Amino acid sequence: MTTHNAPFTIHWPNTSFVQSVANPREFPHIALPQIAVAGHSNVGKSSLMNSLFGRKNLVKTSKNPGCTRLLNLFNVDEALLVVDLPGYGYARAPKREQNRWISMIEGYLKQADIALVLMLLDIRHGPKPSDLQLIEWLNSAGLRWQPVATKADKLSGNQRMKRLQEMQQAMGGMLAPLPTSSFKSTGVDALRQLIETELRR
Ligand code: GDP
Repeated sequence: MTTHNAPFTIHWPNTSFVQSVANPREFPHIALPQIAVAGHSNVGKSSLMNSLFGRKNLVKTSKNPGCTRLLNLFNVDEALLVVDLPGYGYARAPKREQNRWISMIEGYLKQADIALVLMLLDIRHGPKPSDLQLIEWLNSAGLRWQPVATKADKLSGNQRMKRLQEMQQAMGGMLAPLPTSSFKSTGVDALRQLIETELRR
């Protein structure tokens, strides 16, 4: 395990795109702690990452879901590498293709020194079979992960609490999902703090 000296606070808008990687084996050597961001296609991953970075269009939101098959690397304030994993589970993609996505993601996660995986889930739908498959894999690989519920603005107070509890149960009950909304900037500071705390561990 590498020891990383993360600064006390990260200046999030000081984020730049590093490169895209088509194959985990081509991953560059960058001596920074890594946070991976995973989620179903259309879960709101690009929007949440832009909110996290405090930048409008750094992460391209895809008009054509299921077409991004690359790992996109972002250097955050020379303190952290955020790795945007390809959105999986696109309904119209053939099963074989979907499995290829998941194995690419697992291939990367296996070889990298990852501090935390953010597992994004749409607050309305909860974990889908492909999410559960990845979660099971993360658990068996002993990787730390944090569930993050996206699009929280879609539900009102009571419904939101209920869905968050159901979501937690569906994922084994151990980890409480962090509710976020890119549209309302809800939970973004909490997410930054969670990551910063994780890096200081
Ligand atoms: P990605 O495919 O996971 O990268 O998702 P995008 O960020 O491209 O968003 C997918 C769709 O969800 C788009 O239509 C967004 O406008 C919408 N969306 C993203 N974030 C939010 C949010 O916080 N609230 C709501 N209501 N919709 C969102």
